[in-house]
Amino acid sequence: MTEVDASHAGPALEWDTPLFRMASAQFQQALPYCGVSDMVAERLSYPERAVIVSVPLRRDDGSIQIFPGYRVQHSTVLGPTKGGLRYDPHVDLGECAALATWMTWKCALLQLPYGGAKGGIRVDPHGLTPRELEKLTRRFTSELVREIGPQSDIPAPDMATNEQTMAWIMDTYSMLKGYAVPEIVTGKPISLGGSLFRREATGAGVVMVTEQAGRRQGWELAGKACVVQGFGNVGGVAASELHDRGARVVGVSDISGGLYSQAGLDVPALHAYAAAHGSLEGYDLCERITNEQLLELPCDVLIVAAREDQLHADNAPRVQAAMIVEGANGPTTLEADEIFRERGIPVVPDILANAGGVTVSYFEWVQDLGRLFWDRDEIRRKLADKMGTAFDRVFSVAEEKGITLRQAAMVAAIRQVAAALEARGIYP
Ligand code: NAD
Repeated sequence: MTEVDASHAGPALEWDTPLFRMASAQFQQALPYCGVSDMVAERLSYPERAVIVSVPLRRDDGSIQIFPGYRVQHSTVLGPTKGGLRYDPHVDLGECAALATWMTWKCALLQLPYGGAKGGIRVDPHGLTPRELEKLTRRFTSELVREIGPQSDIPAPDMATNEQTMAWIMDTYSMLKGYAVPEIVTGKPISLGGSLFRREATGAGVVMVTEQAGRRQGWELAGKACVVQGFGNVGGVAASELHDRGARVVGVSDISGGLYSQAGLDVPALHAYAAAHGSLEGYDLCERITNEQLLELPCDVLIVAAREDQLHADNAPRVQAAMIVEGANGPTTLEADEIFRERGIPVVPDILANAGGVTVSYFEWVQDLGRLFWDRDEIRRKLADKMGTAFDRVFSVAEEKGITLRQAAMVAAIRQVAAALEARGIYP
């Protein structure tokens, strides 16, 4: 076996932040169960490439402001990299590196021919006008034109980016190439080659695995008390899917705070209110609670679908959910994970639970490349098949090895990438 020198001289690498250390620790915790070589373990510990750009924007008042932009590509072992772009004041290199690493495991777990990437701009998107957001997106795209591509790295929406953002990226990239390249992004409008069911895919996938996990424990979703943190693309759709299956959605929240009703909230009315007002702020047809209280409500299922670091050492001992499902990426800290393990509360991990989005993104890319489009039922059925297969793999590894669902998901994913890396070897 080739010997690997795991030490790198000098100070910590630039992406070495708390979130990246969390992603690395999860990888290290799974490694003893994976049976992979030192070469594989060491190579997959690092993102392959990280790019920082500075993006100038001429504001509507004529002034110029510069925003840092990032793109991190974790692994190209299985194919091009794939991952979202977010606009958020917290974006940094470490966050992108952690999220890119999780994307590698998510794609591998779902057996998609991709590695992980993530990127974004450090900006408060609510402080910009639509015109400014468009200019910022177009300039960011041109700064990244050498990094992204339909065969190299395919962006998608994430926090505060959406179909419109993807349309601007597709248009800018196509203008630079001289012909239409719809397969450069996923999560774009249907009129540009977007896929039916992409918008709903992540939230729907979250509920598909919640239903399967319930069945494993001998119960059905109908009538169960569910709490959803986050009412955006993931949480909002998950709440609707739960409601449609007859579950009682007793609590939801967004950045403005939480809403609670023991009898179950009127989810369609909440969507109508959020569409009209931009958020749930001011909705007063039920009890208002804080986000902290929401996470500690007694319930059968808690879906955390807002952002990272929401369940931590302080609140984990007070969580009263029978099961936690991670709609967001990285919502549970390592300390909270350990507390839930000790308390016997299963956590369905992000790389399984929220993989519906990248799976239908993969379907979108395949449809664009083939210029052949599928109907909604076919996409939903294909998604259910993929999620079901991944779910069964995770649960059987967890049972066989007596490890947590997160460790089992990581083991299944790491083995998938490791087999390919062993076969390819290290170039040259
Ligand atoms: P979004 O911007 O559409 O929605 C985020 C929601 O969370 C909003 O309702 C916002 O108000 C709320 N929120 C933000 N901070 C909060 C806080 N501190 N407390 C309570 N609510 C808060 O974003 P999204 O696309 O739904 O993504 C949510 C999470 O899911 C992110 O972690 C993202 O990386 C992950 N994710 C998204 C997708 C996708 O397809 N959109 C796929 C996989 C994972």
